[in-house]
Amino acid sequence: MKRQTAISRERARRSFEERLVVAKRSRTVEDAKFRARQAQGKLRRFVQIQFHKQEVVEALSLRRGDCNRCGACCEILFKCPFLKKNDDDTTTCGIYEDRPGQCRLFPIERRDLEEVRGSCSYYFIEKPVKLEKAS
Ligand code: SF4
Ligand code: SF4
Repeated sequence: MKRQTAISRERARRSFEERLVVAKRSRTVEDAKFRARQAQGKLRRFVQIQFHKQEVVEALSLRRGDCNRCGACCEILFKCPFLKKNDDDTTTCGIYEDRPGQCRLFPIERRDLEEVRGSCSYYFIEKPVKLEKAS
């Protein structure tokens, strides 16, 4: 009887460890995907701001809300060395007046919000549908 209990316990322990390994692996995969999305986003915004200014203006016309100064966009891929955390949980940019365009304009479009895991207080409205001219 005792032996049976020990075997069951050992099985339960193994199954728990196996589930732990699977969970860890899937978390690592999710993290890798998230970081890849952040890297793509950084590059996309850089290209948009440098070469597609009109597209940026149009995209920003759909943006609403204000910045809550959470600083999440300053930690995309890595923590910016100019980011300062305040006691009240807000953040300050150490080079605010001279910060790059990518910082000034974040988020440019809705998909950018996915890179900050819901911390951003901006949101986007749908593009208004153009009405056909009445004949
Ligand atoms: S330069 Fe300023 S705004 Fe840009 S990521 Fe760094 S701390 Fe944030
Ligand atoms: S993630 Fe959004 S709300 Fe937070 S600091 Fe950046 S722009 Fe502001």
